[in-house]
Amino acid sequence: MRRLVIVSNRVAEPERQAAGGLAVCILDGLLERGGVWFGWSGDIVADESGIGVSCTRRDNVTVVTMPLTERDYAEYYLGYCNAALWPVHHYRLDLARFTQENTEAYRRVNERFAEELAPILTKTDVVWAHDYHLIALAAGLRSRGVRNRLGFFLHIPFPPPDVLMAVPEHEWLVDSFLQYDVIGFQTKMDQSNFCRFVCEHAGGEMISDDTLRAGGRIVTVSAFPVGINVDAFAEMASSAEAQKRIRWLHRCGEPRLNIIGVDRLDYTKGLPDRFRSFKRFLELHPENCKAATLMQIAPPTREEVKAYCDIRHELEALSGEINGQFGDFDWTPVRYVHRSVPRDTLAALYRGSQIGLVTPLRDGMNLVAKEYIAAQDPENPGVLILSRFAGAAEDLQEALIVNPYDVDEVAQAIHKAVIMPLEERKQRHAALLAKIREHDACNWMASFLRALDAPPIPMAA
Ligand code: UDP
Repeated sequence: MRRLVIVSNRVAEPERQAAGGLAVCILDGLLERGGVWFGWSGDIVADESGIGVSCTRRDNVTVVTMPLTERDYAEYYLGYCNAALWPVHHYRLDLARFTQENTEAYRRVNERFAEELAPILTKTDVVWAHDYHLIALAAGLRSRGVRNRLGFFLHIPFPPPDVLMAVPEHEWLVDSFLQYDVIGFQTKMDQSNFCRFVCEHAGGEMISDDTLRAGGRIVTVSAFPVGINVDAFAEMASSAEAQKRIRWLHRCGEPRLNIIGVDRLDYTKGLPDRFRSFKRFLELHPENCKAATLMQIAPPTREEVKAYCDIRHELEALSGEINGQFGDFDWTPVRYVHRSVPRDTLAALYRGSQIGLVTPLRDGMNLVAKEYIAAQDPENPGVLILSRFAGAAEDLQEALIVNPYDVDEVAQAIHKAVIMPLEERKQRHAALLAKIREHDACNWMASFLRALDAPPIPMAA
């Protein structure tokens, strides 16, 4: 088996096994076949004189990291990645900010990654780069003579051509994508958006369902939906410790209707609309007052970007408004927790909640939806309400699928979930569980690597 080289903006070091399912799977894959994990260390240094690569080794995995300069952090990470690419890929052109400096910083940092990575590679390594921070890495490696198989997985959505065209240098971005040999997307829709762009605007043609010929190269383009480690999560949710937490959750006031939301505090997650939907539900079905609680875990993220401060203020005002209008001495309708919660606590919260409310306005996949399903008691499962705009909805059609912009529709879905008979809940849950098992974290990893390890398709094909 050829050595695997993983490249991502942030590196999950082997010691940090508390990482999510994907990071654990990638680490397992690396341990199995030996390899390198290369990326940003998370450190920020004053200027380029402080940039140096550092290496640590555990078993047969080498972790190679480098810092970013203050300027890189501001222009590449906050600027281009998170204030330009992130909003565009989530269809939010109104929030996108483009500057020439930020675009240059993106090129510069991708070049620097390529410069440091190229000498480490052996001829037979397969390289797998992750996410929107590193679209231009392959081009940097190719210009340094690297001929290895290079794969790329985009964890966030890929927008339709008209949306992408708002990025000033979108042609360059798409050409950069095409320097990889295998490009993976979360959903068939993302795959199709990308292929449409290449065929309609970059002179490409499809030579099979998942093969593109463009710019003198043959590229495999396919959907590989990301998943979770279902058994590990189910075990966490049914552990003795989790049971204790669930009993506590149910004891604080009777009777209880727990609705859980878990999302980074990101404008893509649709939190203000979700809060409005919960409020609407209380207005339309006041018999649930005193019983229903929306527990929203929303850890902070990217607080240096203005749009993230705005969403925080909006949500704080909304939760205050709902609690002020509906709450009582013995009932707090919205419990809003603005900090990160460990995964084992989340597992217990999911299991103790009759409804999982997952209503992003746009999301690459949304692992919380899958975790909620895995955590349920199959004999008395809760109901997942899922936005049609989450990548997960392409597969998880047995959830209650909603339009997150439609506050009334989501309010009605909450009511439908509340009154859903046990038999229907069990049927929906069994179907959903089978699906998340089929597309779990390890299958995701294995299927991408199968495509990457496959021999190249000849140009004449
Ligand atoms: N998560 C966590 N603690 C929190 C909130 C979230 O561990 O307080 C985890 C959650 O269990 C999930 C991940 O963060 O595994 C979020 O993944 P998702 O795909 O839902 O959203 P993303 O943050 O990647 O946009």
